[in-house]
Amino acid sequence: MQQKIDPAKVRGEEVSQVEEIAGESMYRCYQCGKCSAACPATPEMDMLPSQVIRYLQLGLPEKVLKANTPWICASCLQCMTVCPKGVDLSRIMEGVRMMQLRHGENRIEMREFDEEYRKRAPQIVFISGLRKFQSLS
Ligand code: SF4
Ligand code: SF4
Repeated sequence: MQQKIDPAKVRGEEVSQVEEIAGESMYRCYQCGKCSAACPATPEMDMLPSQVIRYLQLGLPEKVLKANTPWICASCLQCMTVCPKGVDLSRIMEGVRMMQLRHGENRIEMREFDEEYRKRAPQIVFISGLRKFQSLS
């Protein structure tokens, strides 16, 4: 007998919470990868932006909750600009950051950025990072 997939079960509570915080559905994304190709911060990320959304689609938030990607994301909106579905990944990243904070994880450590990266990174990366860091204190 054919089994039907229950989206609520696949999604799980944590992914639903990320969607709720973000105000964005994971399932509009069809994994074209344009966001990852356009993102200026991928050299510092340990997971591509499109992989973040894919793991969430698959109901595997535990993978994403260990990633540094949401903390490196500078909310520059480049990904949304190129996304054929208009998915706002910066909001999803914010949702994941909130979940990481609820798990007691501090993912931002400015000293971990090497000098070369600090020279070429847009200032918004650091301003954004400091804002997130301050939200922990
Ligand atoms: S560009 Fe949009 S549709 Fe394509 S992988 Fe990224 S979020 Fe998904
Ligand atoms: S908003 Fe974040 S994920 Fe999207 S392009 Fe900018 S840094 Fe990359």
